Amino acid sequence: MNVLENLKKIVSDFLRGKEPYEIAVENFVKELQKTLLRADVNVKLVLELTKNIRERALKERPPPYISKQEWFIKIVYDELSSLFGGDIKPQVFPVKTPYIIMLVGVQGSGKTTTAAKIAYFYKRYGYRPCLICTDTYRPAAYEQLYQLSKQIDVPFCGDPKSSDPIDIAKKCLSYCINNNTNIIIIDTAGRHGYGEEEYLLKEMQDIAKAVNPDEVMLIIDASIGQKAYDLALRFHSATPIGSIVITKLDGTAKGGGALSAVAATKAIIKFIGTGEKIPELEVFDPRRFVGRILG
Ligand code: GDP
Repeated sequence: MNVLENLKKIVSDFLRGKEPYEIAVENFVKELQKTLLRADVNVKLVLELTKNIRERALKERPPPYISKQEWFIKIVYDELSSLFGGDIKPQVFPVKTPYIIMLVGVQGSGKTTTAAKIAYFYKRYGYRPCLICTDTYRPAAYEQLYQLSKQIDVPFCGDPKSSDPIDIAKKCLSYCINNNTNIIIIDTAGRHGYGEEEYLLKEMQDIAKAVNPDEVMLIIDASIGQKAYDLALRFHSATPIGSIVITKLDGTAKGGGALSAVAATKAIIKFIGTGEKIPELEVFDPRRFVGRILG
């Protein structure tokens, strides 16, 4: 997240600066605005955030033994955390097993890669994941997920000869359960583009009816930036068991836009993808995320 890393510099400039407090706050706020806008964060959100920071900075008194400067950074930290979802901490460990996770998203969003990343994540915690490919539209999808499953040594199921995703899903569910796995991850076809949320959601409902998932995960590519808002909002209101994974946060200047846009819908961002490799998946925790960019 190159642009957000600028924040680290703004913070250290602030802490080392010699200007009077009020002027330093004003300069900081201006730099913060510039940085967040460059990271594609929505203008309205940026103005709201900086208004809150300014007001709190001038009104609140730091507790004893804490300097005004340190207190100010704490305010910035609080407010930035709420921009990315605040105190919401996703529940990543399943409440029951077998636990069925179904992945949906636009083609190219990173769904298949994320399916394998999630399987690997749970495997590392001692669960027994199973991967299912129901994508019958893109012939390479089967081979791609099969290869990934071999890499991480996780059972895999699909049927490259079938053109019926619902039938595959049902048969493969039995296969996974019979093989004593307890987290079942279903990759689906993602043929629609962003802006066609309705088709995506309809497709999600059709497959969900057949497999009755415990969780539906929407995969969003961070490079769509603020456009993630509409998609996340509709998804969030369409499924009470939905969560979101934002992928490719390593490769775009729009990451701040996608993250803050999704957080603004109050949808739960569960994981973030930070690279092409399988271990490059993190549980998303807004406070930890901000803590890291503030250094
Ligand atoms: P799908 O069509 O949604 O299943 O997308 P894929 O899983 O095939 O991914 C599309 C491309 O995005 C591939 O080249 C992946 O390696 C890449 N990709 C997926 N997740 C990430 C990520 O978090 N970071 C980066 N840099 N690339 C990713």
